[in-house]
Amino acid sequence: MRKEDVMEEKCMKQKENQLYIEFPAFPENERIARMTAAAFLAAMNPTIEEMDDVKTAVSEAVTNCIIHAYDYEGHEVFKAPKVEMLLERQGQTCYVTITDHGTGIEDIEQAMEPLYTTKPEEERSGMGFSFMEAFMNELKVESEQGKGTKVYMTKRIGSSMIQSCTFTKKEEQENGKE
Ligand code: ATP
Ligand code: MG
Repeated sequence: MRKEDVMEEKCMKQKENQLYIEFPAFPENERIARMTAAAFLAAMNPTIEEMDDVKTAVSEAVTNCIIHAYDYEGHEVFKAPKVEMLLERQGQTCYVTITDHGTGIEDIEQAMEPLYTTKPEEERSGMGFSFMEAFMNELKVESEQGKGTKVYMTKRIGSSMIQSCTFTKKEEQENGKE
């Protein structure tokens, strides 16, 4: 078996993990969600950049639940506004699912457009979904009006490390070391 295949298999064999938290949609809990995701990810040996990417994406998704899903100032006041976060690891892929049971999104395609916001008066820039899309490998949004919203994201961790190991091996062969 080639050295790089052994390394990839070793990465894939690492123990899988899963973590679920549920918390009230209060602004102070955004930090807790972000730090929890960071702690979960740490076991996957991410680069600082990968860690920052996931923290930013979690922060944007959770903030959306807090700011938009449960509209305190609007006519509809939710009695028990809850946000759920599910973190899952499979091999070197991290799956993040953020769920709320709030207002839902009328037009998902429009909501995901860069600079689109329904709260310009609160100095929102409409870039949350664009950041999630840019910083994660995959982003999927499901929403039903009056029922809530689910944001699915995935991030592959360490793929640059495998690439660089493969490259080093190739370099060794070219230099006649093996
Ligand atoms: P920013 O994230 O830059 O502060 P924003 O939150 O308005 O601004 P996005 O995060 O891209 O921008 O979201 C776009 C729009 O989608 C929001 O303005 C809001 O109308 C809607 N939206 C996003 N998430 C939710 C949610 N969980 N529930 C209800 N509506 C949402
Ligand atoms: Mg946002």
